[in-house]
Amino acid sequence: MRSAILVESAGERLLVDCGPDLRAQLLAADVTALDMVIVTHDHADLCHGIDDLRPVAQAIGAPVSLRGRAETLERLTNRFRYAFEGSTNYRPVLVARPLDEEESLGTASLRFVDQPHGGITSLGIRIDEGAKSAAYSVDFNSMTDDMATLYQGLDLWIADCLRRKPHPTHAHLDAVLGWARELGVGQLLLTHLDNSMDVAELARELPDWAAPAYDGQEIVLA
Ligand SMILES: [Zn+2]
Repeated sequence: MRSAILVESAGERLLVDCGPDLRAQLLAADVTALDMVIVTHDHADLCHGIDDLRPVAQAIGAPVSLRGRAETLERLTNRFRYAFEGSTNYRPVLVARPLDEEESLGTASLRFVDQPHGGITSLGIRIDEGAKSAAYSVDFNSMTDDMATLYQGLDLWIADCLRRKPHPTHAHLDAVLGWARELGVGQLLLTHLDNSMDVAELARELPDWAAPAYDGQEIVLA
């Protein structure tokens, strides 16, 4: 599965990223309506399922709110102009709205940080619900001070972990485990694993506070 998460709070739903198999993911998760979609960056593997948001727009009777950094949204608007503008017989599917410093989803608050991802940045997202905190960090290769500040002491960190060997644009296993220890995160889930990462082997060797994430996994932050 392409990396994506669905966040739900007090009946509101956020989808983070919309990769090429979005239709299958939405069907598997029984999702018809969404309150917003955040795109972490405009790499094809995380946003080229954008056309599959059309049935969501039809279900909610309005264009889907597509959120992200202004530069990301500008690039997506240029690439998928038809979806934002519509045409004579087709209504727009998406409306682009740059993210504010802090956003809310139901009773949760969302904060953001730019993460180095090779020559570009991707968006890291922290979610606070009551006294609990989580963050989703896909596609990044180093830990900046701003990231460390936002991710300090998380109850749950879902982090990019492409493989065991270092990679120029993605995080690798030793680095992620080291950052998680420094940040004092309670639970670490590894995502965006490539084919070299054997899930059973990882599950055996990881400390008890870390595990590989899996498709369809549900986590209650309470
Ligand atoms: Zn990427």
